[in-house]
Amino acid sequence: ELPPINPDFYEISDRLNAADSALQLRVRQFMETEVKPLVNHYWLRDEFPFELIPKFGELGLAGITINGYGCPNRSFLMEGILAMEMARVDASIATFFGVQSGLAMGSIYSCGSDEQKQEWLPAMNKMEKIGAFGLTEPEVGSGAAGGLTTTCKQTADGWVLNGQKKWIGNATFADLIIIWARDLDDHQVKGFILRKDTPGFSVEKIKGKMALRIVQNGLITLTDCVVEEKDRLPHANSFKDTANVLRMTRAGVAWMAVGCAQGAYISALDYTRKRKQFGKPIASFQLIQNHLVEMLSNLTAMQTLVYRLSELQDAGKLKDEHASLAKVFCSLRTRDIVSQAREVMGGNGILLEHDVARFVADAEAIYSYEGTKEINTLIVGRAITGMSAFV
Ligand code: FAD
Repeated sequence: ELPPINPDFYEISDRLNAADSALQLRVRQFMETEVKPLVNHYWLRDEFPFELIPKFGELGLAGITINGYGCPNRSFLMEGILAMEMARVDASIATFFGVQSGLAMGSIYSCGSDEQKQEWLPAMNKMEKIGAFGLTEPEVGSGAAGGLTTTCKQTADGWVLNGQKKWIGNATFADLIIIWARDLDDHQVKGFILRKDTPGFSVEKIKGKMALRIVQNGLITLTDCVVEEKDRLPHANSFKDTANVLRMTRAGVAWMAVGCAQGAYISALDYTRKRKQFGKPIASFQLIQNHLVEMLSNLTAMQTLVYRLSELQDAGKLKDEHASLAKVFCSLRTRDIVSQAREVMGGNGILLEHDVARFVADAEAIYSYEGTKEINTLIVGRAITGMSAFV
């Protein structure tokens, strides 16, 4: 009788109360029964499983930390657990959900008016409306803080937006897209809720992605799009307000990396206990055990780190550098874990049907989005030295 496969070696789940544990198990079950059977099919085809949207709506977990507006008002720890549970099955689905729940709903919740929250958040919680978050541009990625070239200008008819946004997750089918643009008058970054039917808005699907293939990323073009003043986010007055949203979602991405690593570890351990070479399970070989234990060590370090990260967040003490350090550490370690998982599976490690190849590819996108390793490193570097090394 082999011991059960347990990716939560230090039993972080023990720290959850009964209601949170029950929710964790519910999400795990949902991901295993509703999502897992679909992901390889859609990943291969570079398509999104739209049939899942109403099911996610029934779960009612989007905007999980939001207080009011039909949202669950649960802890940041629970938001992290949710990201981990989703990514453990599929990082694309976790990303789709993170864009909706963290980036889009989070922007409206932290920068929007009460009317905007009333209009969008309850419907987004039920997934009746889908959101996207448009910050990155074709020529401006890491340097978004000072470099945005998408512009906005206030006129008698409303705000006129011009520019392009690249990589925008969910943008090809979103009902609303949060657009970050520089005001031609005061030169500050402002945020807007752009409705999908706005004249002058167009979006093209980015094809040929080799990671997170289920996520539909778009290249957006805005040509003299007019957005009414009521759709400007009134509490988004500079890039600092954008960064406040990103600090929260970066913590979620660190948890997502943990989930991706967990998924790979579970598959690898299971495989190596079953696969036989030289007449014995390969898990009985010392060199294979070395890989497995290294994977588990990194995974356990990541889990304890993100648990404390969420405690800080729940205590209202999360700083940019806390979120950045966790994002860098976890996305780096995840890259190692998924590659060791692939290694111990031999040739089968590159077959989609064994899942690990998908985790390997997806870890690359997690590594680069929401701030690359370099950018998040520089955020921590600036905090500990008091010196900015960005330029
Ligand atoms: P660049 O900024 O061009 O960077 C290239 C390299 O140069 C990186 O290694 C970077 O770290 C390094 N570099 C840059 N500046 C410095 C410096 N000062 N010092 C040292 N090294 C530096 N964006 C959105 O707005 N919304 C989304 O929904 C969204 N979803 C995404 C989904 C996916 C799958 C991907 C891949 C990206 C997504 N992005 C999204 C964009 C993402 O946030 C950017 O890709 C990321 O910020 C990096 O920007 P870049 O790709 O333009 O790389």
